[in-house]
Amino acid sequence: MPEAPKALSDGGIVVENNNKALKFIEDVTVNADDVQRRVLSEILSRSADTEYLRRNGLNGCTDRETFKKVMPVVTYDDLKPDIERIANGDTSPILCSHPISEFLTSSGTSAGERKLMPTIDEELERRSLLYSLLMPVMSQFVPGLDKGKGMYFLFVKSEAKTPGGLVARPVLTSYYKSSYFKNRPNDPYTNYTSPNETILCLDSYQSMYSQLLCGLCQNEQVVRVGAVFASGFIRAIQFLEKHWCLLCKDIRTGTIDSNITDPSVREAVSKILKPNPKLADFVETECSNGSWKGIITRLWPNTKYIDVIVTGTMSQYIPALDYYSNSLPLVCTMYASSECYFGINLDPLCRPSEVSYTLIPTMAYFEFLPVTRKNELTGSISDPTSLNDEEKQQLVDLVDVELGQEYELVVTTNAGLYRYRVGDILRVSGFKNNAPQFNFVCRKNVVLSIDSDKTDEVELQNAVKNAASRLVQFEASLVEYTSYADTSATPGHYVLYWELSVKDATLIPPSVFENCCFVVEESLNSVYRQGRVWDKSIGPLEIRVVENGTFDMLMDFALTQGASINQYKTPRCVKYAPIIELLNSRVVSSYFSPKCPRWSPGHKQWCTQN
Ligand code: AMP
Repeated sequence: MPEAPKALSDGGIVVENNNKALKFIEDVTVNADDVQRRVLSEILSRSADTEYLRRNGLNGCTDRETFKKVMPVVTYDDLKPDIERIANGDTSPILCSHPISEFLTSSGTSAGERKLMPTIDEELERRSLLYSLLMPVMSQFVPGLDKGKGMYFLFVKSEAKTPGGLVARPVLTSYYKSSYFKNRPNDPYTNYTSPNETILCLDSYQSMYSQLLCGLCQNEQVVRVGAVFASGFIRAIQFLEKHWCLLCKDIRTGTIDSNITDPSVREAVSKILKPNPKLADFVETECSNGSWKGIITRLWPNTKYIDVIVTGTMSQYIPALDYYSNSLPLVCTMYASSECYFGINLDPLCRPSEVSYTLIPTMAYFEFLPVTRKNELTGSISDPTSLNDEEKQQLVDLVDVELGQEYELVVTTNAGLYRYRVGDILRVSGFKNNAPQFNFVCRKNVVLSIDSDKTDEVELQNAVKNAASRLVQFEASLVEYTSYADTSATPGHYVLYWELSVKDATLIPPSVFENCCFVVEESLNSVYRQGRVWDKSIGPLEIRVVENGTFDMLMDFALTQGASINQYKTPRCVKYAPIIELLNSRVVSSYFSPKCPRWSPGHKQWCTQN
């Protein structure tokens, strides 16, 4: 197995380490198939005695052929009973021979709760390895990145404990709290404007405020800016829009606002913040000039690019990022999940629509299930939940995927997932040596997403059904509905278009519709509710009641675009601008959810901790 590059210890060996990282990428992509074979064999030999592999009759075999013949291809729900046993405290080797160190809470959901992904200590090292490849790749395209700092808005989220005592938290929270991040060696590529204490502060206001303050104080040194997802970066800029007066006051006086009460944050910021009236004047002038166009390049003039994920549902934020940055390059560096970190973008300055990720063959054993489109027009994907033997045969290995073909990603990881369907659809866009590169096409089934929430059609349907039942007492019923993720303002919010059959609309007080909005929110999954309550990354849900006949017009419109009348089904989510315009032109009234839904960290039945 090619050896991973070690972290840098001083600036002098930057070039050498970059070369090592690039050589590593070269080696593993040239030898992709060998590496994959070895990865699988190592996982299987190590986990030979686990209950899961025994139960499925692998009998200690470690070869690809037997593995493919006997092991089922599974989804989270298939593993749920095993995962619940681990969560409840069973420490026997159920899925993995190594002790489960914690659960990573995925933004995907099952039965309204976050999925729990078991992980083991050594996975942190694998994640660090992927991170260590990013800047050497970037440096091939943008020189001088080792000469300045990165202003990255990074955040931790709350944790919970499972009944068996394991911590459950998001993968990035786990990473930022680990020594890999906190005690990272002095390295020009991980030199951030935000001190660790500001990132690790659980209070999202204090964390955001202090990170922005430190970013402004070091504005000349910043050469790149970013966050994980585009939505998070936009949130930071809009926080600045709201709070720049306070921030300027702090910069002018060199003292931190009294709302920042966390002592470790105050101490860390005080090492950076010094009275600087000139900088305060500059920031004040830029922020008060009436337009926020190009604010990023104005306040941080040496910025060369914005590092955020804008592939998948995040592409909705590209226009806003272009506006705030005067079209700086938007760079998507990596593709990862709670289950496993997958790959990196080897051509980071390409256009967002052309981003492709090269899966790194050492990260896991990858297989690919060819995707068939059920319906050419809507593009909906045929999605068998459990695969029969014939369908199982269709899974192909990393080096055998075909250019242009779409696949669902299936992974076997070191942490105890075997032939696990991640739920992402990827399209082969090219090859780096023998390793394929993929465009991220979409997340299967997801109809609505603002931030890390992923709401599927079934959840939406159930939530709408619960809410619409409140209309019965007013002799009204829901005839048709669709939805739209409105990100024109921040935070974005879900919009539902409702067409009603109603005897006398004047008899329904507005509070009934407001309550319907609230019932939908209460019925949605815990990631959505966390976004509303904790992260405040999602605004109140809105119901727009439309005139009768609107959905017939929608169908007529689809027919003019080539839909077949026999196949036409009302889309449960709309994205196409002319359709949204049509719906908006027919709105008779609109209502917002009056309060936040209920949410607490952890699954409903667990005790929580902070
Ligand atoms: P989570 O398990 O909550 O970390 O979410 C992981 C999911 O986020 C992936 O399976 C993808 O659906 C999505 N995701 C992660 N990275 C990217 C990316 N670079 N582009 C598009 N979607 C991504």
